[in-house]
Amino acid sequence: MIPASFDYIAAKSLDEAISLLATHKDDAKILAGGHSLLPAMKLRLMQPKVLIDLGRIKELSYIKEEAGQLRIGAMTTHFQVETSDLLRRVCPLLPETATQLGDMQVRNKGTIGGSVAHSDPAADWPAAILALDAEIVATSARGDRVIKATSFFVEMLTTALEPGEILREIRIPGGKGKSGQAYVKVRHPASGFAVVGVAVNLAADGGKCQSAGVGITGVSPKAYRAANVESGLKGNALDAKTLSAAAAHAADGVDINSDLYASAEYRKQLATVYTRRALEIAASRLK
Ligand SMILES: Cc1cc2nc3c(=O)[nH]c(=O)nc-3n(C[C@H](O)[C@H](O)[C@H](O)COP(=O)(O)OP(=O)(O)OC[C@H]3O[C@@H](n4cnc5c(N)ncnc54)[C@H](O)[C@@H]3O)c2cc1C
Repeated sequence: MIPASFDYIAAKSLDEAISLLATHKDDAKILAGGHSLLPAMKLRLMQPKVLIDLGRIKELSYIKEEAGQLRIGAMTTHFQVETSDLLRRVCPLLPETATQLGDMQVRNKGTIGGSVAHSDPAADWPAAILALDAEIVATSARGDRVIKATSFFVEMLTTALEPGEILREIRIPGGKGKSGQAYVKVRHPASGFAVVGVAVNLAADGGKCQSAGVGITGVSPKAYRAANVESGLKGNALDAKTLSAAAAHAADGVDINSDLYASAEYRKQLATVYTRRALEIAASRLK
C-alpha cells in the first residue's frame, strides 16, 4: 500500500496548473481531494510521475449564481455543497446528494470536480449532475470548452476531458416554474458508494409534468439519464400510477453491473424500486 515515487507540485493559480499539465502531459495527474487518486496510487493502479495539486487555488472553490445559472467551482468540497444556504434554497438536490456521500472525512476533503472527473460508476454526483442537465466547463491552454453532462461520462472511469484539460466549473441551468427534486440511494455497506443511486429533478405546470431529469448511478459502467422514465412522465399528471409505470423503465437499454454484493437482476429491481421512490418524493415536493 505504498505508492510509486512521484514529484509533487502545488500550483498557485489555475494558469500555472494548466501550464504544468501542458509541460508534463501524460506523466502528470491533477490532485484535488485525493480521496480517489491516492488509494489508486497506493494500489499502484495509477503511477503518475508528477502530481499537480489544485488545493491552494482559491479561485476554484465557490458556489454562486451567474447568468441565470448556478456555478460551482471544481474544488468545492462535498461538505461545502452540503451546507450551502444558496443551494438548499434553489437546488436542494445537490445538498441532499452530498449528505449521502461517504463519511465526514470524505465530505470534508473530497471535491465535486474530482468526483465528476473521476467518473466512478458508483459515485453519487454524476446522477445529480445528469438529472439537473448540467454543463461541465473544461479549461486548458486552448481555452474553455463547455460539455453537456450527457456527453461527459463516456465509460467507467473515463470522461470527455481531453489531455491537458482541467475541469474548472459545473454549471446548472436555473429552474422554471414549480420544481421538485430528490436523491435516494442504496449504500454499499462497506464502502458507502451507491449500489444504486437515483436523482430526480421534476418541473410541473398546471398539474402536469413539464420536464423530468432522472440520473441513475451504480447500475451500469457509467451513470446515465433514464430516457424512457423521463418520456413516461412528460406531459402526464404525476400520480402514483404514472410514477410507477415510468419507474419500470429505470434500467432500459443499459448493461447492468453484477458483482458479489448485487447481481444484475437484483440491481435492476433496486433501480426500479428506488426510481419510483425518488419520483414519489420529488413529486411530493413540487412547489
Ligand atoms: C472511504 C471513502 C468513501 C467514499 N464514499 C463515496 C460515496 O459514498 N460516494 C461517492 O460518490 N464517492 C465516495 N468516495 C469518493 C470521494 O467522493 C472522492 O472525493 C471523489 O471520488 C474524488 O474527488 P477528489 O476531490 O478526492 O479527487 P482526487 O482523488 O484528487 O482525483 C480523482 C481523479 O480525478 C482527477 N481530477 C481531480 N480533479 C480534477 C479536475 N478539476 N480536473 C481534471 N481532473 C481532475 C484526478 O487526476 C484523479 O484522476 C469515497 C472515498 C473514500 C476514500
